[in-house]
Amino acid sequence: MSSVDQQLDDLRTEITSELPSDISVSDVKYEGPELVVYTRDPKKFAQKGDLIRQLASKLRKRITVRPDPDVLSKPRDAREEIMAVIPDDAGVTDLDFHADTGEVVIEAEKPGMVIGRHGSTLRDITQKVGWTPEVVRTPPIESSTVSNVRNFLKQERDERRDILEKVGRQIHREEMSDDEYVRITTLGCCREVGRASFILSTPETRILIDCGDKPGAEGEVPYLQVPEALGAGAQNIDAVILTHAHLDHSALIPLLFKYGYDGPIYTTEPTRDLMGLLQLDYLDVAAKEGRAPPYDSEMVREAIKHTIPLEYGDVTDIAPDVKLTLHNAGHILGSAVTHFHIGDGLYNVAFSGDIHYDDTRLFNGAVNDFPRVETLVLESTYGGRNDYQTDQEDSERKLKEVINQTYDRDGKILIPAFAVGRSQEMMLVLEEAMRTGDIPEMPVHLDGMIWEATAIHSTYPEYLRDDLRDRIFHDDENPFLAEQFNHIDGGEEERREVADGGPCIVLSTSGMVEGGPIMSWLRHLGGEADSTLTFVGYQAQGTLGRRIQNGWDEIPVDDRGNGRGNTLTLDMEVETVDGFSGHADRQGLENFVKTMNPRPEKVLCVHGDESSTQDLSSALYHDYNMRTFAPKNLETFRFV
Ligand SMILES: [Zn+2]
Repeated sequence: MSSVDQQLDDLRTEITSELPSDISVSDVKYEGPELVVYTRDPKKFAQKGDLIRQLASKLRKRITVRPDPDVLSKPRDAREEIMAVIPDDAGVTDLDFHADTGEVVIEAEKPGMVIGRHGSTLRDITQKVGWTPEVVRTPPIESSTVSNVRNFLKQERDERRDILEKVGRQIHREEMSDDEYVRITTLGCCREVGRASFILSTPETRILIDCGDKPGAEGEVPYLQVPEALGAGAQNIDAVILTHAHLDHSALIPLLFKYGYDGPIYTTEPTRDLMGLLQLDYLDVAAKEGRAPPYDSEMVREAIKHTIPLEYGDVTDIAPDVKLTLHNAGHILGSAVTHFHIGDGLYNVAFSGDIHYDDTRLFNGAVNDFPRVETLVLESTYGGRNDYQTDQEDSERKLKEVINQTYDRDGKILIPAFAVGRSQEMMLVLEEAMRTGDIPEMPVHLDGMIWEATAIHSTYPEYLRDDLRDRIFHDDENPFLAEQFNHIDGGEEERREVADGGPCIVLSTSGMVEGGPIMSWLRHLGGEADSTLTFVGYQAQGTLGRRIQNGWDEIPVDDRGNGRGNTLTLDMEVETVDGFSGHADRQGLENFVKTMNPRPEKVLCVHGDESSTQDLSSALYHDYNMRTFAPKNLETFRFV
């Protein structure tokens, strides 16, 4: 008998002895990090409300109880009884029964009402019908990404359960080594921005954190071929952790599956969905630019299939000697600071991923409170000594000025913006400004992936800033549903109509004017001297956006198909409003460390250009007397 089977056997005996004698245990299995207990008496289990919680804390495991398939009532009968238990206001839109596991997935507009106080309604459901309910939110704005991901996972349910069972046995395998060490190897994003990737290793376990591309330098991928990573085979990696969905962190994760990786990806649920959206777009862009993509869409589906979503704050066993906890990073939807507890109190490491320290309109500020942490791996995008950002309030004031001046001229405001994050932030600023009368009411047209990204934001209000979350919970106050927002879904014809109409605001991708519908908007509006092209985000070196900012007014436009490169003369006003950023500035990064509880002994400054990482590293050393480093790629640090 394998050690895992022995362990499960012992657990079954222990659980049986803990339970009242009238509750039977028919099977005990690992599924990913969870222990699944099958019983022939699900109703009795549910009646004793605290039983599962008591078991979980006694065994120090995450426990799910499921009914033995042959004691289940028929879905047809169960459906009626379930609907009778759930309040009508919950807005149930779908019930999906899975007889093999005894689970019923309930999709509802108001999941909180299906759950009930401390899960009371869920327990009522099991008491009535025996099925184990699982609740998901009906997206308030229809999202093809969310529904595609959910349908795909439904379709692949059997295979997914096999994956989870395999991962579960891996996590709970017997520790083989008596040796003790903790190492971090840098595979990318050191003294550069892009291709984020690290390996965290112990004698027992190897964990890959992020695997991104380098924008503008397609060939430069993380150093995955070293022995610590894939050099010894993809099976060498136990788990992949994704801090957030931006492509410089996520783009090459599907490539791991092409190389034979078959293990789990741990991340938040919104990051899983955004990752799918952005990776598919990444393949699309590569195809349009005539580049051979490094993997195909099948590998994106593999990545989604292998994702084990975690909520902020859940302490999760991901290896025999490693516990992972994700915390809000304040950067984009679902972004996480990742905390690893290694061994039994041996060592603790936190990776910041990308962070925003202060609250923004969209997110609460990054969490920097941990039970213990000895080493912090910290992003340094704006770590340079002069990297201070304009105050957000000043930025918003300037944006409103630009809008008002343009409106008074009868012009239109064209804003290039990233689909994920910046666009939703702009929507919140504009919605409030119109509501309070700071700017006149006018239509706001959203083009490109912006609407889809907004729909994903609305699906996961728990991941948004408190007050925004509460507004979305009350449908009539959901700011993203305000009537001035119009989703451009009619293509070129609709754009022309908008261009021929009155004053309005257009938010469109791509954020750095590198293709996408923004090019079409430039063709329509570029010649209008009364209109304003307004930059609200960073324009990287070498992008068309940067060149326009620098005064270029002859814009190459590709009237596709005719083979001629045309040029457009830009007559629009060009304005730049700084200060909107998903990243902490220098002050924010210092504050993150200064107020961190507990303060780490060592800090590795990464994810910034050479001078930024070195500036930040030396400042933290001088100000807080900690050991700091600005490593290069391919360095290894040993901590224990
Ligand atoms: Zn990012």
